Amino acid sequence: EPPAAWLGAQPAAPVPPAACRPHASHKGCFGDVAVIGGECSAARGTAMTGAAWLAASAALHAGAGRVYVCPLADAGEPAPAAWAALPEPELMLRRFSALELRAITAVCGCGGGQAVQAVLPAVLRACPRLVLDADAINALAASTALQAAVRQRSAEGHATVLTPHPLEAARLLGSSASAVQQDRLAAARTLAARLDAVVVLKGSGTVIAAPGQPPCINPTGNARLATPGTGDVLAGLIGARLAAGAHPWPAACQAAWQHGALADDWPALQSLTAGELARRLRP
Ligand code: AMP
Ligand code: MG
Repeated sequence: EPPAAWLGAQPAAPVPPAACRPHASHKGCFGDVAVIGGECSAARGTAMTGAAWLAASAALHAGAGRVYVCPLADAGEPAPAAWAALPEPELMLRRFSALELRAITAVCGCGGGQAVQAVLPAVLRACPRLVLDADAINALAASTALQAAVRQRSAEGHATVLTPHPLEAARLLGSSASAVQQDRLAAARTLAARLDAVVVLKGSGTVIAAPGQPPCINPTGNARLATPGTGDVLAGLIGARLAAGAHPWPAACQAAWQHGALADDWPALQSLTAGELARRLRP
């Protein structure tokens, strides 16, 4: 756990560790997460199901009550065959249109491809707690209307956490990844102020910024995380913490800390893959 002082003046996250769960609790107590992404396109012969599955697996292992995967397909295409069976039986498939958005924490964009654009307006309007990653961030970068919808969420008391890597941040800022890397603190603060949201600028020394907060640089993590899918795992982990009722600022700080600390403690002779990382998460 990160030291309390490091989390600033915000209240500590009201997320009890697994061992402290009330005796009579049930899965409905810990919040539902839906991962919206994993686009498949038969026409293009592409499938990004793994990204959505990794985020969902992370949310599951991090203690979310129920975890749904909402795979996206090109308009007009049937539900993707690649999702006929989920790699973890605890996860549930749900068609996007059948989601109760108002009752759910959404992790949106992991492997979302172009298809995420079609669902993003409804997600931004309705989901009370939201993590935006990858293709959801790319869709935002292309639309000032969607950026305004993100700002509007804050006015309505909805929690939004964005998790860009440097290139995704650069797209949002209209700059370049190297410019972002030259002043990571400034990039994260600018984005947080512009979108009125918590921004987790990933990479070595992940920066967490939010309006009215001094930015944090996460001290945990190492280059073993530079492997496919670890960003999706972080998005799912933040989603589980939001679903359990954490404030977005401590949820983002604690998730970045935990994600990096797992990599720091990784067995020396064992390769780190995102799937293994997700399975080692704990509530
Ligand atoms: P993504 O770029 O979306 O795949 O996310 C990669 C994840 O791994 C993020 O959480 C990064 O902060 C983390 N990561 C990647 N490379 C490093 C590194 N060299 N040191 C620490 N964390 C890293
Ligand atoms: Mg990523």
